[in-house]
Amino acid sequence: MAEPDRKETRVTTMTQTAVGPRPAIRPRIAARAGLFTFIGANVAAVTALFFAAGPSDNVLISIGRLAGLYGALAMAFQLLLVARLPWLDRRLGMDRLTVWHRWTGFSLLWTLLTHFVFIVFGYAQVEDNGVVDEFVTMVTKLEGILRAVVALALILLVGAVSARFARRRLAYETWHFLHLYTYAAVVLAFSHQIALGGSFASSPGAQAYWWAVWVVALGSVFAGRVVLPLARNLRHQLKVVAVVPESHDVVSVYMTGKHLDRMPARAGQFFLWRFLTRDRWWQANPFSLSAAPDGRTLRLTAKAAGDGSASLRSLKVGTRVFAEGPYGAFTTMHQRKPDALLIAGGVGITPIRALLEEISGHVVVLYRVRTALDAVLLPELRGLAQARGAVVHVLSGPSDLAGPYGPVLGAHSLRRMVPDIEDRDVFVCGPPGMTSATLRSLRELRVPNQQVHAERFSLAA
Ligand SMILES: Cc1cc2nc3c(=O)[nH]c(=O)nc-3n(C[C@H](O)[C@H](O)[C@H](O)COP(=O)(O)OP(=O)(O)OC[C@H]3O[C@@H](n4cnc5c(N)ncnc54)[C@H](O)[C@@H]3O)c2cc1C
Repeated sequence: MAEPDRKETRVTTMTQTAVGPRPAIRPRIAARAGLFTFIGANVAAVTALFFAAGPSDNVLISIGRLAGLYGALAMAFQLLLVARLPWLDRRLGMDRLTVWHRWTGFSLLWTLLTHFVFIVFGYAQVEDNGVVDEFVTMVTKLEGILRAVVALALILLVGAVSARFARRRLAYETWHFLHLYTYAAVVLAFSHQIALGGSFASSPGAQAYWWAVWVVALGSVFAGRVVLPLARNLRHQLKVVAVVPESHDVVSVYMTGKHLDRMPARAGQFFLWRFLTRDRWWQANPFSLSAAPDGRTLRLTAKAAGDGSASLRSLKVGTRVFAEGPYGAFTTMHQRKPDALLIAGGVGITPIRALLEEISGHVVVLYRVRTALDAVLLPELRGLAQARGAVVHVLSGPSDLAGPYGPVLGAHSLRRMVPDIEDRDVFVCGPPGMTSATLRSLRELRVPNQQVHAERFSLAA
């Protein structure tokens, strides 16, 4: 079925509202450029400090030392990427930052292994010693080496559990708990750096530089992951005011709190929600806002995917909520064109429904579901569409649904339903398979990259 289900379709008069003035530099480009300049400047500084300290006569030792310094820098950068700093998160999105964190993590692993191997082989050469003997001597006689070896072992462990095959087999919480060992590795690695001196102790400037690197990295994590969430929750004091079933496996949770008009949340963003019940307080799950924040209430709508999401149905009114966020770049901040196409798959309707409230210009919504019963929030979607002159197409059928123009979210079908698609921003949210297939169709249709925005409901992919 490539044509939309006409019974489920509402077509009303189009309105044209211009989006507000756009910044000269796109927010995502500005953040990316800022971050890369920051890294480039630090790589240059570390290299300069290394040469200022005077490399060793032994090439292996020199390479090992330089790799160690780059490894320390990569570790600090890793922390910055997961610090959840609002400025970066709103511009780049937690999903993108998490992917960069993942790749930096693997580079870090190789850099530190290089450091370890070159240093041991280098000193074995200088001391005219066997490699194993040299390693044992270093660990037992030199201060700070054992700490470095433990740090490396912890990073290897975290790297192993983060590899795709292991990650898929571990519960999110187990993987996350093991991941926290990285902080112990950071502290051990830093104390190794202080104990051994080298480039670190070569000059007061080098010392000041490295202290600044670690203070900024650890300070960012502390600010973004501890201070800010605590301060926001103390201020807003969220609690559940209603739990409304939307279908047999989807439920909406309404929350209220103090000063919600001052919470900097936008349609399309999500929070990590922790409901403070006796049996679930330890579990935080990401859910998008399913309505644009109105300054009085927040709402999430969740499908039962596992025990945590299924338990939301039995939440009691009055339950206290600890919410970390708002997070995510799936917002109108990145809108480039006056008009938009919103594509939702299943429960991916949640941020799309919220965006429909906030987005300016003419909007077409494509809502892909398996059966009409799965189309949760449809009545309010239609109400909103009618109020603001948007078009909603519900596309229902099995996942391999195709019609005269090919797959229902294939390039030809999209072009038929939205002839001016390349002149719109396209926001896509749905299961990973549907999202990837839709993004392929958009590439085929040559919709410019900067107009395509996706939320995959997965941070660890
Ligand atoms: C940015 C984002 C927004 C989302 N918005 C919605 C929404 O609006 N409505 C909805 O129904 N679903 C949403 N999800 C999916 C939802 O988070 C998962 O279905 C839910 O967390 C499953 O948890 P569980 O305990 O029920 O199941 P489990 O079996 O414990 O978890 C299933 C899988 O969910 C993922 N998950 C669980 N906890 C977390 C976490 N803290 N961080 C990242 N991933 C986690 C993991 O991949 C895990 O393997 C969203 C996901 C993300 C990443």
